Amino acid sequence: MTYRRVALIGLGLIASSMFWAMRRAGMDAHVTGYARSEETRETARRIGLCDTVCDSAEEAVKDADLVVLAVPVGAMGRVAEAIAPYLKPGCTVTDVGSVKKAVIEAVGPHIPEGVDFVPAHPMAGTEHSGPESGFASLFDNRWCLIVPDGAREEATDRLEAYWRALGANTQRMEVEHHDLVCAVVSHVPHLIAYTMVGVADDLRRVSDQEVIKFSAAGFRDFTRIAASDPTMWRDVFLTNKEASLEILGRFTEELFALQRAIRTGDGDTLFDYFTHTRAIRRGIV
Ligand code: NAD
Repeated sequence: MTYRRVALIGLGLIASSMFWAMRRAGMDAHVTGYARSEETRETARRIGLCDTVCDSAEEAVKDADLVVLAVPVGAMGRVAEAIAPYLKPGCTVTDVGSVKKAVIEAVGPHIPEGVDFVPAHPMAGTEHSGPESGFASLFDNRWCLIVPDGAREEATDRLEAYWRALGANTQRMEVEHHDLVCAVVSHVPHLIAYTMVGVADDLRRVSDQEVIKFSAAGFRDFTRIAASDPTMWRDVFLTNKEASLEILGRFTEELFALQRAIRTGDGDTLFDYFTHTRAIRRGIV
């Protein structure tokens, strides 16, 4: 059973894509939306994002059967606290945050008795942000990780069915494991992309113009994600500290080993490493 009324809090890439995917799926849910900035709310109204764009989160969640927290991870707790008194008994609150342990700790205590909280994370995104960046097919065949963390089975099943209707595949995952997996496949790669751009910018002997002009050779593909929203990524690293540091430590070790192989002319090490990692990468479509 889908939800009759859905509230989207935060109207950026993820929430706007959810709205268009709901429409594409033919869901006739009434969708309310709220974003903190007046400018975002105006843009949402102009492009027809949501049936009703509200001027407060409280108003948006009032009659909702499903409330989706789609704000940066660092804002989740504050938003949950603000909307808690206005949640309809029996409704489900979910989030789409890229980090799960910190969100559960920040949001969980504000969820009133009789309301289900089912954390989730759609593993889909682009480097764009804001209400105009969303599109209906963003979640098609991508994974949405559901992290029930003790949520009721019935509410979890219903949220999974909702995400599948938006085009995603779903998988349940335990909290700490989620944060580690995401540090490997998403968080640390973003950090490395940001540093690649930082290093290129810092290198006085290569001009910014040259970087832009000749960037096709690896740099352009590799650093696409470094155009992502700084607030979102600041919050990810502040809240997924442990797993990010663990993966970053492992990455640094590998980099030092390759650095040594280059310095000592150890072609076998480089060749074996690249052969092994190429085989793995080729398995990813
Ligand atoms: P975005 O920057 O496109 O949108 C965020 C929206 O939240 C904006 O409309 C902003 O105005 C609003 N907002 C910020 N603080 C708020 C507050 N206190 N109250 C109400 N609204 C507020 O971001 P996005 O990419 O849609 O990301 C939203 C969430 O989804 C984040 O938690 C992020 O970790 C997660 N996520 C992002 C991606 C990605 O690749 N972009 C992928 C999966 C999950």
